Amino acid sequence: MLILIKNAQVFAPENVGIRQLLLGGGRILTLSEDELVASGAAIIDLEGRRLVPGFIDGHAHVTGGGGESGFASRVPPLPLSRFSAAGVTSVVGVLGTDDTTRDTKSLLAQTRALREGGLGAWCHTGGYHFPVVTLTGSVRDDIVHIGPVIGVGEVAISDHRSSQPTLDELLRVASDAHVAGLITGKAGIVHLHLGDGERGLELVRAALHKSELPARVFNPTHINRRKALFEEALLLASSGSTVDITAFPVAADEDAWAADVALIRYLDSGAPAGRITISSDGGGCLPVFNEQGEITSMDIGSPASLPATLARLLQQGLTLDEALPAFTSNVANILRLHDRGRIAVGQAADLLVLDDQDNISDVMIAGIWHVRDGRQKISGPFELQGSNIDT
Ligand SMILES: [Zn+2]
Repeated sequence: MLILIKNAQVFAPENVGIRQLLLGGGRILTLSEDELVASGAAIIDLEGRRLVPGFIDGHAHVTGGGGESGFASRVPPLPLSRFSAAGVTSVVGVLGTDDTTRDTKSLLAQTRALREGGLGAWCHTGGYHFPVVTLTGSVRDDIVHIGPVIGVGEVAISDHRSSQPTLDELLRVASDAHVAGLITGKAGIVHLHLGDGERGLELVRAALHKSELPARVFNPTHINRRKALFEEALLLASSGSTVDITAFPVAADEDAWAADVALIRYLDSGAPAGRITISSDGGGCLPVFNEQGEITSMDIGSPASLPATLARLLQQGLTLDEALPAFTSNVANILRLHDRGRIAVGQAADLLVLDDQDNISDVMIAGIWHVRDGRQKISGPFELQGSNIDT
C-alpha cells in the first residue's frame, strides 16, 4: 500500500523545507518539492507540520534492568508502546548490572519480540561484567553470527558494580567487537557504562594509547552523570569516539548535567557535532535515596525521556536541526544503521510528526502508523489496546 504525505516541513534532520513524500514497502520512495500524484495512495496532508526522523534509542533495557535492590527490584520488560509512544522507532537493547539472572538469550528473545511488533530492534551481547556473558561463547562469534547483535556492552568501568577489568581485558573485548564489525558491517563497538568513579575515562584513554584500535570502537554512555566526566568526554569525542548522554532525571543540586543542558554544552564547546548521541536508559532502575543513603523508592527509566528532552532543547532556543542529530542521524552513524535516522529516498519510513507544542502527535514505523493524532494504534500483545499515549 502506498502512502502520500503532502506538505510536510521536513527536517532530515537538516531543514529541507516543504516536501511531498511517497512511501511504500516500508520505505521512502520519493521525496519531492513538487506535487506528487499516486493513484490508490492513502493521502495525508500535514499542512506544514514538522516531519522528523524516528528516534534511535541506543541504550534501553528492553528486558527490564534493575535487580540491584533484591530480586523484587528486577524491572519487567518494556512493552512495544513504551517505545513507539515516545517516538522511538529503533532501539538497541542492553543488559546491565544483572547479567546473571538475565543473559544474551533472553535479551535476544525480547529484541526479536520488539521486531515482531514492528520496531527496529538490535542488541549488544554481554553486560556489565567480565568474563562477558555471550550466547556462542565468544563476543566476536555473537556479533558475526547472530543477526540482531551489533556490539558488546554495556561493559561497566569506573563503577563499584563493575568487574574492574584490566586494560588487557578491555582491549581483547574491544578487538573482538572491532573485527566482528569489519566482517559484518555492523557497529562493532564496545558500549561502555561509565559509573561515578573518579577514574572516569582513564581506561579508555589508556586503551587508545596502547592499541591500534580506532577511537570509534569505544562508545561511552552516561557521560553527563558527573560534570568532570563530561569534560573528559568532550576531549574523547574530539579524538574520534562517539559519546552518549543519558536522559535521566537530574536534581538541581546534583553534580550532573541534565540531558538537554549536556547537549547544549557539548555543542557550545566546539566538540564534533556528529559525535554526540542521547539515549533513554529506558527500563533501567532509577533508585531514589533518602539522606541516609537508603533506597526509599524506585522509578523506571523511560523512553519518554527522549521527546521530553527534545522539547526542553527547543524551549531553550536550540533549533530542530541542531537538536535532532543526537537523537537520529548521529546514532545511526555510530551504529552503522545506514537506512535509519534520516529522511531520504531509500530510508526506512520511520517518521514522527511534531505538533505546535513540540510534542509528537504521530509515529510511523516502517510505513505503519503506530500513533496517529496522539492515539496509540498498535500495542504489544499483552497491552491494552487504544489507550492514550503514556508520557
Ligand atoms: Zn548503564
